[in-house]
Amino acid sequence: MAELTLDSVTKVFNDGGSDEVVAVDDLSMGIEDGEFLVLVGPSGCGKSTTLRMIAGLETVTDGEIRLGERTINDSSPADRDIAMVFQSYALYPHMTVRENMRFGLEESTDMPDDEIRSKVEGTAAMMGIEDLLDRKPSELSGGQQQRVALGRAIVRDPSAFLMDEPLSNLDAKLRATMRTELQRLQADLGVTTVYVTHDQTEAMTMGDRIAVLDDGVLQQVGTPLECYHTPNNRFVAGFIGEPSMNFFPTARSGDTLSAEQFTYPLPEAVASSLGDATEVTLGVRPEDVEVRPAVDDLGDHDFACVVDVVEPVGESNNVYLRFADAPEGETFIATISGMRNVAAGDRVGATIPPSAIHLFD
Ligand code: ADP
Repeated sequence: MAELTLDSVTKVFNDGGSDEVVAVDDLSMGIEDGEFLVLVGPSGCGKSTTLRMIAGLETVTDGEIRLGERTINDSSPADRDIAMVFQSYALYPHMTVRENMRFGLEESTDMPDDEIRSKVEGTAAMMGIEDLLDRKPSELSGGQQQRVALGRAIVRDPSAFLMDEPLSNLDAKLRATMRTELQRLQADLGVTTVYVTHDQTEAMTMGDRIAVLDDGVLQQVGTPLECYHTPNNRFVAGFIGEPSMNFFPTARSGDTLSAEQFTYPLPEAVASSLGDATEVTLGVRPEDVEVRPAVDDLGDHDFACVVDVVEPVGESNNVYLRFADAPEGETFIATISGMRNVAAGDRVGATIPPSAIHLFD
């Protein structure tokens, strides 16, 4: 077991060519011993490339990757003591489950045969696949193949696990079950893990910390709640949270923000923290927008709105609102309890509380 360190790691594909791509740009972060770190970001942001560089499947253009004290940039994948689990499971189709699980141990260690057998059987029992040991991958369901792929990684007892969207081929229900199971397994084993996903819900529910990447550049590393409550920038604010944060571009003059649809006075302390920025984006999470019956005496942070669409989502509703003063403007979202009776066309009051706003310049 070990901590994993990325020190100014850069990956450039087709370096110097006209089709050069900077896939990962000067990425530095430390993953603590035993930590579950989720690398999250939209498709093409450099997640897989980062993971593949750690695994040794891709060379590093610049920077250093260390496992514990050891620099592993130039070690072969087999010498890195790292196990990777892929989205596609990558099981050997001609081998049984038992042979798939044995294979890595036979290749990388000189462990005696009976010890290999007992490790494979012990891990299979832990993963609940002991009855499947003599089947071929083609005789297994997707969920079972997934367990075998994990079991094959675990049996090697590596210093770190790398997982590239390992649950994305499973149906939604099984995915949710496996999330919890994988998290518990990782905590029990205490193995440093880097887990890649494009799904912010997966990141928020699984990671001890999450690292948000955009366009090859690290935007924020923090606990899920830190990234949620104190996003470093607008990208993180918009990417983390479902439904996404509402954003309103505004022109700022002193302590007043003027959006297309409304004006919004800021508390003085908040306004002074903005320095001399004149273009400010005001963000508010849907669950922080307060919706109540329409009233006539509107306060500074209250707005007359019309309900455009109500989207029931389990125990809550996503209510798409339009400012009554800007009937052609874009809608914004408020999440309210599903018990509340709100319908399209209703006139309501919406409050954007100053304590809940996020400002980005
Ligand atoms: P993600 O895993 O976040 O979807 P990737 O790491 O796969 O992103 O890709 C990051 C960027 O690098 C993308 O622009 C992708 O097109 C590019 N890229 C990935 N692999 C290669 C390659 N072998 N050759 C050229 N460009 C690549």
